[in-house]
Amino acid sequence: MASMSESRTVYNGAPPASELITEDGLTWLEYRKTLKPDYARAWRDAAFCYIMLFGAFALHIAITVHRGNTVGLILTPLSALWIGFWLHALNQFAHEGAHGNLARDRKRNDLLSDWLLWPLFAQTVRTYRVSHMQHHVHLGDLQDTEINYHECMHPWLITKCLTGVQLVVLLGHNLLKPKPAARTSKSGSASQRDLLLAVARTGLIHGLLIAVPALLGIFGPALAWLVGLVAIYPCFGSTRQMLEHRAYDAPCKTDFSKIEHGAINRHFGNDIFSRYFGAAGVNHHLLHHWDPGISYTRFADMEAFIQRTPYAAKMEEGRTTYWRAVSTLCQTAFKS
Ligand SMILES: [Zn+2]
Ligand SMILES: [Zn+2]
Repeated sequence: MASMSESRTVYNGAPPASELITEDGLTWLEYRKTLKPDYARAWRDAAFCYIMLFGAFALHIAITVHRGNTVGLILTPLSALWIGFWLHALNQFAHEGAHGNLARDRKRNDLLSDWLLWPLFAQTVRTYRVSHMQHHVHLGDLQDTEINYHECMHPWLITKCLTGVQLVVLLGHNLLKPKPAARTSKSGSASQRDLLLAVARTGLIHGLLIAVPALLGIFGPALAWLVGLVAIYPCFGSTRQMLEHRAYDAPCKTDFSKIEHGAINRHFGNDIFSRYFGAAGVNHHLLHHWDPGISYTRFADMEAFIQRTPYAAKMEEGRTTYWRAVSTLCQTAFKS
């Protein structure tokens, strides 16, 4: 596996590092060494997402207990949307952990990620890292491991998400598709075992969060967690990846599992929605793909550096907002 921090591979869709040089001769390879992650900020940001997730869930439980199940069930759609949104935000910190940007020491980074973030997401930091790195190396080609942008921004996708079909498809993709480690190393079976244990652990946690309130007769919050998890969270995840990587003019009828899509990267706004829909710097996804080793806590410095290089215009080309990208992709879907 290519290193995700020090030695820099040329990633699909990223400019060659040797060409990222400022007008006064500072090279990216030198400058990036100064961009040390702000670990405390990353954990503060993740803690905020946890507070939003469990604070609102506790509030929904309290309202249901005091006002009854009718009020609790009326609040369920809003609560499910909220739970799905913050689960999706937390998942972006788990992704940051896979890039080793949550602690200075890699072992400590992995331990913290595995205990504090991945338990909600049916993976381990190592199993995800092996697969995710192929997304960086193979973005847009037929070996890309993250394939949500193969989907068209069509009402059919919303239906698949809201019925939980998308979650089943993604879990199937994660569990059944042979991972690079499984094909190339003796640790493949250990990695498969870790993955199955992670799925069981996640099933237990979410199962308890749904079953305990349900068994106590607190139905609204139990249903909200279930819908937030199986429908809203995968819907946000799939949509985000499409916004990041799907070409605006990609026709719905093209099967990108057979025809190469090509590498497209975008980055989005800094408003409050974008900062949490694209949490942990995922709203600056183009920068992340240009150098996946850089912590999102240093993206402002990275962006300022690129502004001083010949790639400033290319970086600006990829800039949009989530709303503009949704609207453009929807227009293509309806036309094709
Ligand atoms: Zn990506
Ligand atoms: Zn990544």
